[in-house]
Amino acid sequence: MKILVINSGSSSIKFQLIDMAGESVLAAGLVERIGEKEGFIQCTLKPGTDEKQMVMSQEFIADHQSGMRMAVDILTDPDTGIISDRADISGVGHRVVHGGEDFYQPTLITDDVLAAIERNIPLAPLHNPPNLDGIRVARELFPGVEQIAVFDTAFHQSIPPHAYHYALPHELYEEQRIRRYGFHGTSHNYVAAECARLMGKPLEELNLITIHLGNGCSMTAIKNGRSVDTTLGFTPLEGLVMGTRSGDIDPAIHSFLARNCGMDIEAIDTMLNKDSGLKGLCGMNDMRDIHEQISHGNERARLALEVQTYRNRKYVGAFMAVLGRVDAIVFTAGIGENDPVVRSKTLEGLELFGIMLDPDVNNQRVKEPLLLSDPASRVQVWGIPTNEELAIAREVKSLLGR
Ligand code: ADP
Repeated sequence: MKILVINSGSSSIKFQLIDMAGESVLAAGLVERIGEKEGFIQCTLKPGTDEKQMVMSQEFIADHQSGMRMAVDILTDPDTGIISDRADISGVGHRVVHGGEDFYQPTLITDDVLAAIERNIPLAPLHNPPNLDGIRVARELFPGVEQIAVFDTAFHQSIPPHAYHYALPHELYEEQRIRRYGFHGTSHNYVAAECARLMGKPLEELNLITIHLGNGCSMTAIKNGRSVDTTLGFTPLEGLVMGTRSGDIDPAIHSFLARNCGMDIEAIDTMLNKDSGLKGLCGMNDMRDIHEQISHGNERARLALEVQTYRNRKYVGAFMAVLGRVDAIVFTAGIGENDPVVRSKTLEGLELFGIMLDPDVNNQRVKEPLLLSDPASRVQVWGIPTNEELAIAREVKSLLGR
């Protein structure tokens, strides 16, 4: 069974073709700068094998349809031998950012489902429209092949009302659906399941804190295998300090900026999403650059690291209180997998709570799942590489098998 996974963004499409027999990646590609003067498509065929091959081309890519068409041409090119025909693909899995309150699990896409994703556009105006473009193009290019939507919000649908309600006038929930939804669900779910497998226990018996630290960052409290709270909220702006997003701030800062700095809503929104977080604090949003600058004595870079890791630690404490008993903490995504300093600063001083890293193991980068805690640590700490594409492909497989 071969499954195509599509993550369609506003100006890019990421895709992976996975052979579910051995869960091997047959092709992984990226179409970038769609609609811009010079587009770019890159695809690695059979990555991680001796037959690995790279295909690249730079040309104008008018829209998502042309982009997807180019990707399909690469996959069906007789010279590459990846697939002989589009019909070799058993199912297409689509990452969809916002499922609102409509979707609790991966869903077979029908016209009604498309309409429901469309209804949720006001909740994710930047994400759901390009996700829909990807679905429409794939339906056209692969007629008769099942299309499945996997929602970033779905894993968090188990969060109870006391954790998803904001203390705002109730009509805002009733009429506008303003509540915590949470994101990165596919990643949190995937690393939680991996962690359970590695610990040799059913996920339903485990309480976990999963920490996804990439460009976007979020932390989830998982009780008996289900998400019960998470740091991202109504939009992917709340909670932890991210690459360019602020995370938590006092909501009164908005009105202060409007009254005293003449900023309008658009300017404030842009600042909080694009010019805040690590970038706002020190001018850099890549943790590697921040470490480099710290080594040269850059104090603002140090401050950015401190602010981010302090916020992480504060939420670890909060989620320990939410869960009562924590069996394991899992780090994942770009920073979580690669940055020993962020991991150790995040868990600094938590020894009394039974959390102890093994400094030697923690000093490594996580390429494969790695137990980072000291054997004496009551709470296990894991580094587990996330793999959202594989998680989506597995969901598609299990839905098609039903
Ligand atoms: P996204 O959220 O866009 O999927 P990733 O999970 O790929 O992002 O994470 C990207 C971030 O990971 C980069 O911005 C960088 O800060 C961080 N990162 C990647 N490699 C390293 C490394 N070796 N050391 C520290 N941070 C790293």
